[in-house]
Amino acid sequence: MLTVPFPRSLGSLLLRRPRLTQRQRLPLSRALSAISAMADTPASSVSSSTTDAHAYEPRYIDIGINLTDPIFTGVYHGRQVHASDLSGVISRARATGCRKLLVTGSDVEESRRALSLAEEHAGYIWATAGVHPCSAGKFGDDEAAAEKYLEELQELAMHEGVAAFGEIGLDYDRLMLCPMDVQRKWFARQLDVAEMVGKPLFLHSRAAAEDFEKELFPRLGRLKGGVVHSFTGTVEELRRLVDKGLYVGINGCSLKTEENLEVVKECPLEFLLLETDGPWCEIRPSHASAKFLKGLDPLVGAPAVKKERWVEGRLVKGRNEPAAIRDVAVVVAAVKGIEVREVVEAAWRNTVKLFGMGEKLDEP
Ligand SMILES: [Zn+2]
Repeated sequence: MLTVPFPRSLGSLLLRRPRLTQRQRLPLSRALSAISAMADTPASSVSSSTTDAHAYEPRYIDIGINLTDPIFTGVYHGRQVHASDLSGVISRARATGCRKLLVTGSDVEESRRALSLAEEHAGYIWATAGVHPCSAGKFGDDEAAAEKYLEELQELAMHEGVAAFGEIGLDYDRLMLCPMDVQRKWFARQLDVAEMVGKPLFLHSRAAAEDFEKELFPRLGRLKGGVVHSFTGTVEELRRLVDKGLYVGINGCSLKTEENLEVVKECPLEFLLLETDGPWCEIRPSHASAKFLKGLDPLVGAPAVKKERWVEGRLVKGRNEPAAIRDVAVVVAAVKGIEVREVVEAAWRNTVKLFGMGEKLDEP
């Protein structure tokens, strides 16, 4: 997997930006190409011409971004705090190198909004359609109404702008939002629909590995594969998923603790996808991952401001967005001791292989 092996300590050193004055500071794409060029050659022989020859434009795909969350239109807990920032979020994503966004749908209404975004930004934004385990109560107790809700979901999922069926799964960490038996019932029923729809799955599994696998694994032959997003499980769980050909989505929540980092280190590059899960799951200074971000160029839109002080073009404190996907890639590369470029390119290939999203793989 490694083109040129180098010690881990050197690997993490190479992820740090060379000391530059403000005026000399490289834009992100140049900084990343410098990092990858250095990793391709012995550090001592790096010259500016080598850097130029290896110019690398990162191509991220954020496979889990909740862009329909009101927070991106400036609404926090039902209160309009600032003007809508959705177009700013999308333009910062583009400026960062996000080539595609996969917007999560977590119930029928939200999936419909995700699809509208996908239609509005055709070719750039794609939607998922599904009912999240914590929202499975939306199916209700009335069987006829529930079947109708399921039919609506199926119809939505068939649209061209929908790249994945989900988010579906089980979440036993948040049983107060929806009891176990309700989650299980609708996970199974939605998998029936997924078999008919024939699109890859966008899956959620939290503290429920055993039941999740019991329901999903026997059906995999009839399904189109999928990703278990926002992965926070154990190494054993990871291996079982990967053994079944499932992909694993990594975001800031997957990188919180040293134990998390050990798990991500074990994730084969061939099965790794990158996501932010914004507005949630940002990397915080207290996380085990944060130490790998020291010395990097600021993110597009940084420094973040408090929501009350929001101005056009700036990130909002505590609100994660696709522009931060660079940091997820940097941390994954650091814990694996490989180039950022290698992580980004692997995630690109894996995402295109799984979801297509209007792209073709470079190689056969
Ligand atoms: Zn999730």
